[in-house]
Amino acid sequence: MDSDSVLTIRALTKNYGSLNALNKLALNVQKGNIYGLLGPNGSGKTTTLSIVMGILRQSSGHFYWFNQKPDHRSRLRIGSLIEEPIFYPYLTLNDNLKILARIKGIDDDQINHVLGSSGLLKRKYSRFKALSSGLKQRLAIGATLLGDPDVLVLDEPTKSLDPEGFSDLRAIIQQESQKGKTIILASHILDEVEKVCTHVGILKSGELVMEGKVEDILSGKQVVYITVENEDEARKALAQCPLIDKFELERSMEFRIMLHKNSKPAELNQYLFSQGVVVSRLIKQKNTLESEFLQLMK
Ligand code: ATP
Repeated sequence: MDSDSVLTIRALTKNYGSLNALNKLALNVQKGNIYGLLGPNGSGKTTTLSIVMGILRQSSGHFYWFNQKPDHRSRLRIGSLIEEPIFYPYLTLNDNLKILARIKGIDDDQINHVLGSSGLLKRKYSRFKALSSGLKQRLAIGATLLGDPDVLVLDEPTKSLDPEGFSDLRAIIQQESQKGKTIILASHILDEVEKVCTHVGILKSGELVMEGKVEDILSGKQVVYITVENEDEARKALAQCPLIDKFELERSMEFRIMLHKNSKPAELNQYLFSQGVVVSRLIKQKNTLESEFLQLMK
Protein backbone atom coordinates (compact mmCIF):
# COMPACT_ATOMS: atom_id res chain seq x y z
CA MET A 1 0.00 0.00 0.00
CA ASP A 2 1.14 3.53 -0.77
CA SER A 3 1.07 5.40 2.54
CA ASP A 4 0.63 8.78 0.82
CA SER A 5 -2.49 7.73 -1.01
CA VAL A 6 -5.52 9.80 -0.03
CA LEU A 7 -8.08 8.50 -2.50
CA THR A 8 -7.78 5.40 -4.66
CA ILE A 9 -10.54 4.50 -7.08
CA ARG A 10 -10.53 1.09 -8.75
CA ALA A 11 -12.76 -0.12 -11.59
CA LEU A 12 -15.62 2.10 -10.51
CA THR A 13 -18.75 1.68 -12.61
CA LYS A 14 -22.07 3.43 -12.28
CA ASN A 15 -25.13 2.74 -14.38
CA TYR A 16 -28.25 4.84 -14.26
CA GLY A 17 -30.66 2.34 -15.79
CA SER A 18 -29.24 1.68 -19.24
CA LEU A 19 -26.96 4.73 -19.12
CA ASN A 20 -23.36 3.93 -18.27
CA ALA A 21 -22.12 7.06 -16.45
CA LEU A 22 -18.82 5.61 -15.15
CA ASN A 23 -16.97 2.81 -16.83
CA LYS A 24 -14.29 1.05 -14.76
CA LEU A 25 -12.84 4.34 -13.61
CA ALA A 26 -9.47 4.19 -11.88
CA LEU A 27 -7.59 7.10 -10.38
CA ASN A 28 -5.30 7.96 -7.54
CA VAL A 29 -4.95 11.13 -5.49
CA GLN A 30 -1.87 11.52 -3.31
CA LYS A 31 -1.45 13.53 -0.11
CA GLY A 32 -0.85 17.22 -0.87
CA ASN A 33 -2.23 17.09 -4.42
CA ILE A 34 -4.56 19.76 -5.69
CA TYR A 35 -6.27 17.34 -8.01
CA GLY A 36 -8.54 18.64 -10.76
CA LEU A 37 -11.10 16.26 -12.17
CA LEU A 38 -11.61 17.85 -15.57
CA GLY A 39 -14.20 16.87 -18.14
CA PRO A 40 -17.00 18.16 -20.30
CA ASN A 41 -20.59 18.25 -19.05
CA GLY A 42 -21.95 14.79 -18.46
CA SER A 43 -18.54 13.10 -18.31
CA GLY A 44 -19.19 11.72 -14.80
CA LYS A 45 -17.45 14.15 -12.45
CA THR A 46 -20.38 14.69 -10.09
CA THR A 47 -21.21 10.99 -10.16
CA THR A 48 -17.62 10.14 -9.17
CA LEU A 49 -17.49 12.63 -6.32
CA SER A 50 -20.97 11.67 -5.11
CA ILE A 51 -19.95 8.01 -4.91
CA VAL A 52 -16.72 8.65 -3.02
CA MET A 53 -18.63 10.89 -0.60
CA GLY A 54 -21.22 8.18 0.03
CA ILE A 55 -24.11 10.16 -1.49
CA LEU A 56 -24.53 7.65 -4.32
CA ARG A 57 -23.83 3.95 -4.51
CA GLN A 58 -21.65 2.52 -7.26
CA SER A 59 -22.87 -0.32 -9.48
CA SER A 60 -19.48 -2.04 -9.08
CA GLY A 61 -15.86 -1.30 -8.21
CA HIS A 62 -14.14 0.04 -5.12
CA PHE A 63 -12.69 3.13 -3.58
CA TYR A 64 -10.48 3.70 -0.57
CA TRP A 65 -9.88 6.79 1.53
CA PHE A 66 -6.49 6.88 3.25
CA ASN A 67 -5.87 3.28 2.10
CA GLN A 68 -8.94 2.00 3.90
CA LYS A 69 -12.52 1.19 3.23
CA PRO A 70 -14.47 4.37 4.01
CA ASP A 71 -16.10 4.66 7.42
CA HIS A 72 -17.37 7.48 9.62
CA ARG A 73 -13.85 8.29 10.85
CA SER A 74 -12.50 8.81 7.35
CA ARG A 75 -15.62 10.83 6.58
CA LEU A 76 -14.76 13.25 9.41
CA ARG A 77 -11.41 13.95 7.74
CA ILE A 78 -13.10 15.24 4.57
CA GLY A 79 -14.89 18.55 3.98
CA SER A 80 -17.08 18.44 0.90
CA LEU A 81 -19.28 20.54 -1.29
CA ILE A 82 -21.11 18.32 -3.77
CA GLU A 83 -24.73 19.13 -3.93
CA GLU A 84 -26.35 22.47 -3.23
CA PRO A 85 -25.56 23.01 0.44
CA ILE A 86 -28.61 23.31 2.63
CA PHE A 87 -28.53 26.46 4.68
CA TYR A 88 -31.52 27.84 6.54
CA PRO A 89 -32.63 30.93 4.59
CA TYR A 90 -33.98 32.88 7.57
CA LEU A 91 -31.06 32.21 9.89
CA THR A 92 -27.92 34.32 9.96
CA LEU A 93 -24.62 33.03 8.59
CA ASN A 94 -23.40 32.76 12.16
CA ASP A 95 -26.35 30.60 13.21
CA ASN A 96 -26.13 28.45 10.08
CA LEU A 97 -22.45 27.76 10.73
CA LYS A 98 -23.14 27.05 14.41
CA ILE A 99 -25.61 24.36 13.37
CA LEU A 100 -23.08 22.84 10.97
CA ALA A 101 -20.39 22.93 13.65
CA ARG A 102 -22.70 21.10 16.02
CA ILE A 103 -23.50 18.46 13.40
CA LYS A 104 -19.77 17.92 12.88
CA GLY A 105 -19.23 17.81 16.64
CA ILE A 106 -16.81 20.73 16.74
CA ASP A 107 -16.55 24.01 18.65
CA ASP A 108 -18.01 27.27 17.37
CA ASP A 109 -14.64 28.98 17.58
CA GLN A 110 -13.78 28.30 13.93
CA ILE A 111 -16.73 30.28 12.64
CA ASN A 112 -14.87 33.57 12.39
CA HIS A 113 -12.01 31.86 10.57
CA VAL A 114 -14.46 30.36 8.07
CA LEU A 115 -16.22 33.68 7.53
CA GLY A 116 -12.87 35.46 7.22
CA SER A 117 -11.56 32.99 4.62
CA SER A 118 -14.78 33.39 2.65
CA GLY A 119 -14.65 37.19 2.81
CA LEU A 120 -17.95 37.19 4.70
CA LEU A 121 -17.00 38.39 8.17
CA LYS A 122 -18.95 41.59 7.69
CA ARG A 123 -22.03 39.55 6.83
CA LYS A 124 -21.85 37.39 9.94
CA TYR A 125 -25.27 38.52 11.13
CA SER A 126 -26.95 38.75 7.71
CA ARG A 127 -29.60 36.22 6.90
CA PHE A 128 -28.53 33.57 4.41
CA LYS A 129 -31.37 34.49 2.05
CA ALA A 130 -30.04 38.03 1.74
CA LEU A 131 -26.80 36.86 0.08
CA SER A 132 -26.24 36.94 -3.68
CA SER A 133 -25.66 33.58 -5.34
CA GLY A 134 -21.90 34.24 -5.49
CA LEU A 135 -21.77 34.99 -1.76
CA LYS A 136 -23.84 31.88 -1.02
CA GLN A 137 -21.27 29.86 -2.94
CA ARG A 138 -18.45 31.52 -0.97
CA LEU A 139 -20.17 30.52 2.26
CA ALA A 140 -20.63 26.96 1.01
CA ILE A 141 -16.92 26.72 0.19
CA GLY A 142 -15.96 28.28 3.51
CA ALA A 143 -18.19 25.85 5.38
CA THR A 144 -16.15 22.92 4.07
CA LEU A 145 -13.26 24.21 6.21
CA LEU A 146 -15.18 23.64 9.45
CA GLY A 147 -13.43 21.00 11.50
CA ASP A 148 -10.11 21.64 9.71
CA PRO A 149 -10.42 18.53 7.50
CA ASP A 150 -7.42 16.88 5.82
CA VAL A 151 -9.15 16.79 2.46
CA LEU A 152 -11.51 19.14 0.61
CA VAL A 153 -13.76 17.75 -2.12
CA LEU A 154 -15.36 20.47 -4.21
CA ASP A 155 -17.69 19.97 -7.17
CA GLU A 156 -17.59 22.92 -9.59
CA PRO A 157 -16.60 25.33 -6.80
CA THR A 158 -16.34 28.33 -9.11
CA LYS A 159 -19.99 28.12 -10.05
CA SER A 160 -21.56 31.60 -9.55
CA LEU A 161 -18.27 33.15 -8.46
CA ASP A 162 -17.09 36.45 -9.92
CA PRO A 163 -13.36 37.00 -10.62
CA GLU A 164 -12.78 38.20 -7.08
CA GLY A 165 -14.55 35.13 -5.73
CA PHE A 166 -12.36 32.96 -7.93
CA SER A 167 -9.21 34.60 -6.69
CA ASP A 168 -10.37 34.18 -3.07
CA LEU A 169 -11.09 30.52 -3.78
CA ARG A 170 -7.57 30.13 -5.14
CA ALA A 171 -6.21 31.76 -2.00
CA ILE A 172 -8.19 29.35 0.20
CA ILE A 173 -7.00 26.37 -1.82
CA GLN A 174 -3.38 27.50 -1.74
CA GLN A 175 -3.52 28.25 1.96
CA GLU A 176 -4.98 24.82 2.72
CA SER A 177 -2.49 23.15 0.40
CA GLN A 178 0.40 24.83 2.19
CA LYS A 179 -0.89 23.32 5.40
CA GLY A 180 -0.42 19.90 3.75
CA LYS A 181 -4.09 19.40 2.92
CA THR A 182 -5.29 17.57 -0.18
CA ILE A 183 -7.85 19.17 -2.46
CA ILE A 184 -9.96 17.41 -5.07
CA LEU A 185 -12.07 19.58 -7.31
CA ALA A 186 -14.21 18.98 -10.36
CA SER A 187 -14.42 21.47 -13.18
CA HIS A 188 -15.26 21.62 -16.86
CA ILE A 189 -13.05 24.69 -17.36
CA LEU A 190 -9.48 23.97 -18.44
CA ASP A 191 -8.22 27.42 -17.48
CA GLU A 192 -9.39 27.03 -13.87
CA VAL A 193 -7.71 23.69 -13.48
CA GLU A 194 -4.48 25.03 -14.99
CA LYS A 195 -4.44 27.96 -12.61
CA VAL A 196 -5.29 26.11 -9.44
CA CYS A 197 -4.33 22.46 -9.67
CA THR A 198 -1.07 20.57 -9.33
CA HIS A 199 -2.53 17.38 -10.82
CA VAL A 200 -5.27 16.65 -13.28
CA GLY A 201 -7.35 13.68 -14.37
CA ILE A 202 -9.40 14.07 -17.53
CA LEU A 203 -12.72 12.29 -17.73
CA LYS A 204 -14.57 11.49 -20.90
CA SER A 205 -17.79 9.48 -20.99
CA GLY A 206 -17.04 8.04 -17.58
CA GLU A 207 -13.46 6.98 -18.34
CA LEU A 208 -10.17 8.51 -17.31
CA VAL A 209 -8.37 9.40 -20.51
CA MET A 210 -5.35 11.06 -18.94
CA GLU A 211 -3.80 11.75 -15.57
CA GLY A 212 -0.64 13.58 -14.54
CA LYS A 213 1.05 16.65 -13.15
CA VAL A 214 -0.33 19.86 -14.62
CA GLU A 215 3.15 21.37 -15.17
CA ASP A 216 4.33 18.30 -17.09
CA ILE A 217 1.29 18.16 -19.27
CA LEU A 218 1.35 21.87 -20.03
CA SER A 219 5.04 21.94 -20.90
CA GLY A 220 4.36 19.79 -23.95
CA LYS A 221 7.45 17.79 -23.08
CA GLN A 222 7.30 14.06 -22.89
CA VAL A 223 7.33 12.72 -19.36
CA VAL A 224 8.20 9.11 -18.70
CA TYR A 225 8.18 7.01 -15.57
CA ILE A 226 10.80 4.31 -15.24
CA THR A 227 11.12 1.56 -12.70
CA VAL A 228 14.66 0.36 -12.10
CA GLU A 229 16.37 -2.36 -10.13
CA ASN A 230 19.14 -0.23 -8.70
CA GLU A 231 18.16 3.27 -7.61
CA ASP A 232 21.68 4.64 -7.02
CA GLU A 233 23.05 3.49 -10.36
CA ALA A 234 20.02 4.91 -12.13
CA ARG A 235 20.38 8.23 -10.34
CA LYS A 236 24.05 8.53 -11.41
CA ALA A 237 23.25 7.71 -15.03
CA LEU A 238 20.28 10.10 -15.14
CA ALA A 239 22.33 12.95 -13.67
CA GLN A 240 24.65 12.73 -16.69
CA CYS A 241 22.04 11.95 -19.31
CA PRO A 242 22.02 14.53 -22.16
CA LEU A 243 18.47 13.62 -23.21
CA ILE A 244 16.59 14.89 -20.18
CA ASP A 245 15.43 18.16 -18.75
CA LYS A 246 14.98 17.01 -15.18
CA PHE A 247 14.24 13.95 -13.12
CA GLU A 248 13.08 13.10 -9.63
CA LEU A 249 12.44 10.05 -7.56
CA GLU A 250 8.69 9.45 -7.64
CA ARG A 251 8.73 6.60 -5.16
CA SER A 252 11.12 3.81 -4.28
CA MET A 253 12.83 2.56 -7.49
CA GLU A 254 10.63 4.77 -9.68
CA PHE A 255 11.80 7.98 -11.38
CA ARG A 256 9.74 10.64 -13.13
CA ILE A 257 11.73 12.05 -16.01
CA MET A 258 10.99 15.02 -18.23
CA LEU A 259 12.70 14.62 -21.59
CA HIS A 260 14.07 17.44 -23.73
CA LYS A 261 11.65 18.45 -26.43
CA ASN A 262 13.27 16.34 -29.16
CA SER A 263 14.28 13.33 -27.10
CA LYS A 264 12.42 10.06 -27.40
CA PRO A 265 11.63 7.53 -24.64
CA ALA A 266 13.32 4.78 -26.69
CA GLU A 267 16.55 6.81 -26.77
CA LEU A 268 16.43 7.17 -23.01
CA ASN A 269 15.98 3.44 -22.64
CA GLN A 270 18.94 2.82 -24.94
CA TYR A 271 21.10 5.31 -23.06
CA LEU A 272 20.30 3.74 -19.69
CA PHE A 273 21.00 0.28 -21.07
CA SER A 274 24.37 1.48 -22.36
CA GLN A 275 25.14 2.71 -18.84
CA GLY A 276 24.31 -0.69 -17.39
CA VAL A 277 21.00 0.41 -15.85
CA VAL A 278 18.24 -2.16 -16.08
CA VAL A 279 14.80 -0.60 -16.65
CA SER A 280 12.08 -3.05 -15.73
CA ARG A 281 9.21 -0.75 -16.74
CA LEU A 282 8.85 2.42 -18.78
CA ILE A 283 5.57 4.31 -18.99
CA LYS A 284 4.93 7.30 -21.25
CA GLN A 285 2.58 10.09 -20.26
CA LYS A 286 0.44 11.01 -23.22
CA ASN A 287 -0.15 14.27 -25.05
CA THR A 288 -0.63 17.76 -23.70
CA LEU A 289 -3.50 18.81 -21.50
CA GLU A 290 -4.73 21.40 -23.93
CA SER A 291 -4.68 19.26 -27.06
CA GLU A 292 -6.22 16.34 -25.23
CA PHE A 293 -8.94 18.47 -23.71
CA LEU A 294 -9.76 20.35 -26.91
CA GLN A 295 -10.02 17.03 -28.69
CA LEU A 296 -12.51 15.90 -26.08
CA MET A 297 -14.60 19.02 -26.28
CA LYS A 298 -15.10 18.67 -30.04
P1 ATP B 1 -21.80 18.34 -15.35
O1 ATP B 1 -20.54 19.13 -15.51
O2 ATP B 1 -22.81 18.62 -16.41
O3 ATP B 1 -22.37 18.34 -13.96
P2 ATP B 1 -20.63 15.75 -14.84
O4 ATP B 1 -19.32 15.50 -15.50
O5 ATP B 1 -20.65 16.08 -13.41
O6 ATP B 1 -21.41 16.81 -15.69
P3 ATP B 1 -22.53 13.69 -14.15
O7 ATP B 1 -23.49 14.67 -13.57
O8 ATP B 1 -21.79 12.80 -13.25
O9 ATP B 1 -21.48 14.43 -15.11
O10 ATP B 1 -23.34 12.83 -15.22
C1 ATP B 1 -22.80 11.73 -15.94
C2 ATP B 1 -23.89 11.12 -16.80
O11 ATP B 1 -24.86 10.50 -15.98
C3 ATP B 1 -24.64 12.13 -17.66
O12 ATP B 1 -24.95 11.53 -18.88
C4 ATP B 1 -25.90 12.40 -16.86
O13 ATP B 1 -26.95 12.78 -17.69
C5 ATP B 1 -26.16 11.06 -16.21
N1 ATP B 1 -26.86 11.17 -14.91
C6 ATP B 1 -26.42 11.85 -13.82
N2 ATP B 1 -27.29 11.72 -12.78
C7 ATP B 1 -28.30 10.93 -13.24
C8 ATP B 1 -29.48 10.42 -12.65
N3 ATP B 1 -29.82 10.67 -11.39
N4 ATP B 1 -30.29 9.65 -13.42
C9 ATP B 1 -29.96 9.36 -14.69
N5 ATP B 1 -28.84 9.81 -15.32
C10 ATP B 1 -28.03 10.58 -14.60
